[in-house]
Amino acid sequence: MKVLVINAGSSSLKYQLIDMETETVLAKGLCERIGIDGHLKHTPLVGGKSVFNEDLPLPTHSEAIAAVIDKLTSAEYGVVSSMKEIDAVGHRVVHGGEKFASSVLINGEVMKAIEECIPFAPLHNPANITGINACIDVMGRDVPQVGVFDTAFHQTMPPKAFTYAVPYEYYQNDGIRRYGFHGTSHRYVSARCAELMGRPIEELKLISCHMGNGSSICAIDGGKSVDTSMGFTPLVGLPMGTRCGDLDPGVMQFIMNKYGLGIDEMLNVLNKKSGVLGVSGVSSDFRDLEAAAGEGNERAKLALDLFDYSVAKVVGSYVAAMNGVDAIIFTAGVGENAPTTRAGIAKYLGYLGCEIDPEANGRRGSDNLISTADSKVQLWVIPTNEELVIARDTRDIVSAL
Ligand code: ADP
Repeated sequence: MKVLVINAGSSSLKYQLIDMETETVLAKGLCERIGIDGHLKHTPLVGGKSVFNEDLPLPTHSEAIAAVIDKLTSAEYGVVSSMKEIDAVGHRVVHGGEKFASSVLINGEVMKAIEECIPFAPLHNPANITGINACIDVMGRDVPQVGVFDTAFHQTMPPKAFTYAVPYEYYQNDGIRRYGFHGTSHRYVSARCAELMGRPIEELKLISCHMGNGSSICAIDGGKSVDTSMGFTPLVGLPMGTRCGDLDPGVMQFIMNKYGLGIDEMLNVLNKKSGVLGVSGVSSDFRDLEAAAGEGNERAKLALDLFDYSVAKVVGSYVAAMNGVDAIIFTAGVGENAPTTRAGIAKYLGYLGCEIDPEANGRRGSDNLISTADSKVQLWVIPTNEELVIARDTRDIVSAL
């Protein structure tokens, strides 16, 4: 079975075509500037075919999907002979609210439910819906489409973890609660960690640290998410590349009054100008921050210290939440590639009997155990693979039809 994995944004669309017999990525690519002018980078990964990397008109997501199918099936750039070889499509959908605790076959009812979640993710869910409609438009209704939700994995959180201490009616009437994000990534790395440890996930207490441009931590007890640091929106929890993370709401009132900002301007500051970028004044990229800190930039150093410290505090709180931890996982851009950040976090974890192995931590490569043999808690670097989870869920759902 061949599954096309789609991650549609408002003006972009990422894709991978995966052969599920061998779990090989046949081709991947990215459409950008949809609705503006248009650009497609298509990279075939088998058969020695050429890369396509050119501007082309993409007025809507339907033209983008049509261009993707055209490249996937063309003689020069293609990896399949016709669209008929694509058996199913798996879509990343950001917000499933309380309606979706697992992946589902998309039908009219499901589309309605995804639409009902738009108020929770006003930028993302409409783009995901557009991506699904574009696939139906170009590929027809006979090709099954599956929705895989960022929030679904966290639906196992107990009420004490997801309830905000505000009037309960806001939850009952309006769905105000912690939902959490990055669920597909936390689910993948925790399952992979159990596999690498050679133990059933049902027996393990794991903490997964997804640290990229956006960052979140998840406590996974017996394979189930029991708490996570992002909340009603992805703005909270850790300080991120440009997002503020946890913040006293009173700060907003103070800044808005003093500088005459409206709520949209305030949220723009908290989403786009805060985090390690805001603190350092240098960059949201950890490579730039490390370089600047190395040259003596104190604010860059503060931003990095603040990040490590924040991660360590959340990890500590999740050890308390689960009454223990067997392994801590680092993943995503920073987690996979920044040994200094991993070491900076591990420095706080000595009380757990957790000991990092500097040599292993410096080593490149995937699925890397970076704690010493004596460490009471294992530390793992596990590259995330959300596309593979989407493709596997799609295969499982479609095979059972
Ligand atoms: P997103 O959340 O957008 O998916 P990623 O998981 O791809 O982001 O993470 C991107 C971030 O990873 C970059 O902004 C950068 O901070 C960090 N990163 C990537 N490579 C390195 C590296 N070699 N050293 C330190 N940080 C890195």
